[in-house]
Amino acid sequence: MSGNDHELERLKSEMDAAQREIDTAKSRMDSIGARREGIRREIESVNYRIADLKRHIDEEYRAVKVCYEARDKLHAENHKYNAQSYRDALQREYEIKKSLYEKLDMLKPEFESALASLRSAKGRKQRAIEAFKARLQILKQQNEMERAKWKEKPCRICGAVIRYHVDWAHIPSVCKACKSGSRH
Ligand SMILES: [Zn+2]
Repeated sequence: MSGNDHELERLKSEMDAAQREIDTAKSRMDSIGARREGIRREIESVNYRIADLKRHIDEEYRAVKVCYEARDKLHAENHKYNAQSYRDALQREYEIKKSLYEKLDMLKPEFESALASLRSAKGRKQRAIEAFKARLQILKQQNEMERAKWKEKPCRICGAVIRYHVDWAHIPSVCKACKSGSRH
């Protein structure tokens, strides 16, 4: 009886649809997570390059100082020029870093929307499961009530068991065999 109940069928397909939405949302979140991870790794390597450039800049300025003290103006200028190149490179790395953080920020609403859709699908699935259980319970009760309407009584003539339904308009008092006269 539960196999062809329309309400049960409907709730089952609602559960399946919610599950598909949960799977989609999860894979969206996984892919966003992977993209985030990639950006974080890029930021790490930018940070590494920034630290490296800062070291070079310090070295060049120390060299500038040493050259000035040695009154080697030509080399001092040379090191100044190098320091400036490193500073320019540093500036470019800061810009790259900024754009990477912007990329991370842009992933936030996408992640939030996937999370919201995951939550609502989970809620829908849970409600469909509850409704499914409740419907199954009702069908069970209906089935039990229906079974309880089937009763037995003895044939008035031969005493054989007669099964009858209480809703029948006419409840027989003799069995089929006695009615047809096949029994003597
Ligand atoms: Zn009978």
